[in-house]
Amino acid sequence: YPPPSHPEPSTLPIRPPVVTIMGHVDHGKTTLLDTLRSTSVAKGEAGGITQHIGAFSVPVPASGSSGDARTITFLDTPGHAAFSAMRARGAGVTDIIVLVVAADDGIMPQTREVIELINKEKVSVVVAINKIDKPGVEPSKVETALLAAGVQLETFGGDIPSVQVSGITGQGLDQLVETISALAEMQDLRAEREGLVQGYVIESKVQKGLGPVATVLVLRGCLKPTDHIIAGLANGKVRLLHDSNGKPVKVAYPGMAVTVSGWKVLPNAGDEVLKGSDSDIKKALANRERMADLNATLGDVELLNEQRR
Ligand code: GDP
Repeated sequence: YPPPSHPEPSTLPIRPPVVTIMGHVDHGKTTLLDTLRSTSVAKGEAGGITQHIGAFSVPVPASGSSGDARTITFLDTPGHAAFSAMRARGAGVTDIIVLVVAADDGIMPQTREVIELINKEKVSVVVAINKIDKPGVEPSKVETALLAAGVQLETFGGDIPSVQVSGITGQGLDQLVETISALAEMQDLRAEREGLVQGYVIESKVQKGLGPVATVLVLRGCLKPTDHIIAGLANGKVRLLHDSNGKPVKVAYPGMAVTVSGWKVLPNAGDEVLKGSDSDIKKALANRERMADLNATLGDVELLNEQRR
């Protein structure tokens, strides 16, 4: 199936935006994510144990025009293989990219890579000028440099907002969250909750007591315990769903990332997750296994031919 398209019909329920933080190494992506994660835990579930599951959810203070409680889903493994796998499939799961630029370092090679990416793919961007707690930094100089590099910042009449933040002190993070939320509201992100379930495996591992567990980002439909699912050559029946605070949930709505247990084997990061009836999933799996065998045999033949040459 192709990934859901934008814009979705305005009759569908709103879904949280999926956000990825990108930028040059050491510009503070990990710190920013850690601070966002821990402040969201402090605001939400008291005593919640944060687990790194590859994604987490941050509540947005009810300031939006609708007054609804909203959340943002942050993917926290930007360098992960899952992303290249999903991109290769043409599945743009990220709605908004936060481009982090350290105020004391400015534009660096990986910053330019992200700028190239955001100019190529139609994705909303927020620039976060980070490390503004450092003495002597001049964020406005970074903004000028970004403009020169082709980033159309709002400050200069463009449409890309920028926020000054510190991942260490937490300064500016509320504004970052609000800016992301405003962008999401403009995108009017919605998703079908009925019928077809489609998602992607963000990461997977074997967990003591639970067996193979995968973090699944649901893009449409609702994933529930006892659902029969398939991802790549892995299938299973959903046993338990947990959010990033380790709290059990009964339903995973579109835009949510949850850990899913009940797999027979471990699915791969980047695999598409689909739901079906028990027999449909078994048929699909048998088909995929046959194809995989066939491809493996073809690969063997090719290898043998190569050795003969
Ligand atoms: P990443 O490679 O982009 O994930 O960067 P990290 O989050 O690992 O941060 C790289 C270094 O910069 C670490 O030593 C952090 O402590 C430091 N750092 C990150 N954010 C800030 C910040 O806002 N202010 C200051 N002063 N240092 C920061």
